[in-house]
Amino acid sequence: MRVSNRKKVICLQGVSYSYPGTNNRIVLDNINLDVHAGEMLVLLGPNGSGKSTLARLMNGLLAPSCGQVLVDGLNTADDTSLWQVRKKVGMVFQNPDNQLVAATVEEELAFGMENLGFPPEEMMKRIREISARMQLDELLNFPPHRLSGGQKQRVAIASVLAIEPQALVLDEPTSMLDPAGRREVISELNRLKQSGKTVVLVTHDMTEAITADRIVVLVQGKAAFMGPPRECFSRVAWLQEIGLEIPPAAELARRIRGKGLVVPQDLYHVADWV
Ligand code: ADP
Repeated sequence: MRVSNRKKVICLQGVSYSYPGTNNRIVLDNINLDVHAGEMLVLLGPNGSGKSTLARLMNGLLAPSCGQVLVDGLNTADDTSLWQVRKKVGMVFQNPDNQLVAATVEEELAFGMENLGFPPEEMMKRIREISARMQLDELLNFPPHRLSGGQKQRVAIASVLAIEPQALVLDEPTSMLDPAGRREVISELNRLKQSGKTVVLVTHDMTEAITADRIVVLVQGKAAFMGPPRECFSRVAWLQEIGLEIPPAAELARRIRGKGLVVPQDLYHVADWV
């Protein structure tokens, strides 16, 4: 089934946003965007382009100044449905230390479910399932602060997944991690995508967008591009112009090809970008 035929989990209709007390300075300008079930959507853009603001609008942390955001048909601006909206769209933030609050990984996985009043047996069942699926079983008794950055972020992701949201929105989840932690988190997101989860990933790192179904590039609050990765990455000059960094591997492939040489197989995954 084509992604666009699937159910719409999050719909943004004519959404604009200005932060209070900023003289109506427009941070997001007339965004129209549907996130479909099972889709991996990447929000790409330079710093300050409005990515985090858009992510926060997707689970009702912010309400639009104009237009509306619907989550599974519920209007996020409606206070009575906000609790439901937060259950349907789970958020993961940049710094896992701000998100992890419990004394052990197991308690961390239980935390969100406890707040939502899940019965203890159901919580235990879900903790077993999620820790097995995300290879956290051996860490259940560990204090989260003793884990590596990548492990902490996986625990943060697992604790949000435990409440079985319809979509997961991650706001630059790798930006505070070392390269190994980044790989760990991105592999996890790709596994989630393979298992059919709806994932929205906010990043300014193009390498993290390669496996997306669709990319939205934000520039000064406008959706300046929306389409598949191949089409996005073919616009190298434009991407550079708006301030995104072309990954070194893609740059290398471009230079090799420019000299009339054959691009080595290891660079095939990025060679099409240039
Ligand atoms: P990005 O995630 O792409 O870096 P943001 O959504 O964080 O962009 O920010 C978009 C714009 O909104 C920036 O100009 C930023 O300075 C401004 N902004 C972000 N948060 C606030 C806030 N709480 N109050 C006022 N302006 C803000």
